[in-house]
Amino acid sequence: MVGSTWKTLLLRALLFLSLLYSTIGKSSSSSNHHHQTTIRFKMAPPDAAAERQITMRREGAAFKVALFADLHFGEDAWTNWGPLQDIHSVNVMNTVLDYENPDFVIYLGDVITANNIMIENASLYWDQATSPARNRGIPWASVFGNHDDASFEWPLDWFSAPGIPPIHCTQTSSISYSVEEECSFRGTGRLELMKNEIKHNASFSSYGPRRLWPSVSNYVLQVSSPNEPQSPVAFLYFLDSGGGSYPEVISSGQTEWFQKKAQEINADSRVPEIIFWHIPSKAYKAAAPKFSIRKPCVGSINKEKVAAQEAETGIMDLLAKRTSVKAIFVGHNHGLDWCCPYKKLWLCYARHTGYGGYGDWPRGARILEFTHKPFSLRSWIRMEDGNVHSEVVLS
Ligand SMILES: [Zn+2]
Repeated sequence: MVGSTWKTLLLRALLFLSLLYSTIGKSSSSSNHHHQTTIRFKMAPPDAAAERQITMRREGAAFKVALFADLHFGEDAWTNWGPLQDIHSVNVMNTVLDYENPDFVIYLGDVITANNIMIENASLYWDQATSPARNRGIPWASVFGNHDDASFEWPLDWFSAPGIPPIHCTQTSSISYSVEEECSFRGTGRLELMKNEIKHNASFSSYGPRRLWPSVSNYVLQVSSPNEPQSPVAFLYFLDSGGGSYPEVISSGQTEWFQKKAQEINADSRVPEIIFWHIPSKAYKAAAPKFSIRKPCVGSINKEKVAAQEAETGIMDLLAKRTSVKAIFVGHNHGLDWCCPYKKLWLCYARHTGYGGYGDWPRGARILEFTHKPFSLRSWIRMEDGNVHSEVVLS
C-alpha cells in the first residue's frame, strides 16, 4: 500500500514536470526553434495518426472479407507430408478466392506453426501463406495466434536413431556467428514477423502502439465508401490475443487502448465495429451450443470444447456495452465453426482453413459481407469443395 502511494505521488510529480516543460517549450518557442521541434514531436504521438483506410470498390456495392484461419504452415518440413499439406492449404485459399473474389482477406492467426519450424526466419513460411492474396492483388491484414512465434520444440525421437534430419539454415548477413550457431532455431518474434509482412504493399497489418508490446497485432482499419472517404462505413479492429512467447490474454492495456481509440474516432458509436482476434475469450464458453447447433446459433460443427484465453481483464465488458460492436471473429478451435449471440453482439468462429494443425474436418473459410446505407452484416462458410453453408445475418 505504502509503495503504491509513493508511486502515485511520483507519477503525479513527473506528470506535473512534463506539463510544465511543454508549457515552457511552447512559450519560448520563438527564441528556440530546435527546442520547439522536440516538443511538438512529444505532443503528437504516433497514435494520433489517421487510421489506415480501405475504400470500397463501388458506391453502394457490398464489401466482402474472407477469413483464413489456422493455416499452420511449416509443419514437419523434414518429411514428405509437411510441405505437401502447405500446398493443399494454398489450394484451399485459391479455391475460396476463385469462388468469392473478396475485397479483403484476414489471416486470423496460427498462420505458421513456429514450434515446428527448424529454420532461422519463419517469415519464409508466412510469405507462402499470404501468397494467394498477394498474387491476386487482394489487400490483407493479419493477427497473431499462439503458434506464430512459439519457440522450436525439439522432437524427442530425433535423439534416437536415425537422429536429427539435415538442417536447413538460411543465409544471414551476420558475421559474428558460425553457421551452426545461427541454426539455433531461436524462433522469429512477433515484431520480426510483422516487419517482414508489412514490407508488402498490400498488407494493412501494423505493429500497434509500442506500450502494448509484447502484444503486437493491435490496430484499426477504416472501411470507406468511394464517394465519401471522410465518413466511415465500418471500423475493423484487430487485437492480439497472445500465446506463444507470452500468456494467452487480452490485457487491460489493450482494452484501454481500444476504449481511447473508439472514443477518438467513433465517439457517438454511430459507425459499426467488427472485431478480430485469434483465441476465443471466456464469453465464448457461455455462448457455446450445448450439444447440436440450434437456433439462434448457426454453424455446422461443434466437435470440441471452447479453448478460451487464460484470463478476462475487461475487453468483453467493454465490447458488450458498445452498441456499435456487431461481432467478434476468432479461430483457434479447429473443430468449431458456429456463430452464437452474446448480449447485444455475435460471437463467431471462423472455419479451419489450413491442412496444418490438428483435426481432419473438411477445410473452408468464413466469409463476411457488409453493405452501407443501410448497414447490414452477413456471413457464411465457403468450403474447399465449393459448398456454401451456415449463412447468418449478424446485423
Ligand atoms: Zn490453430
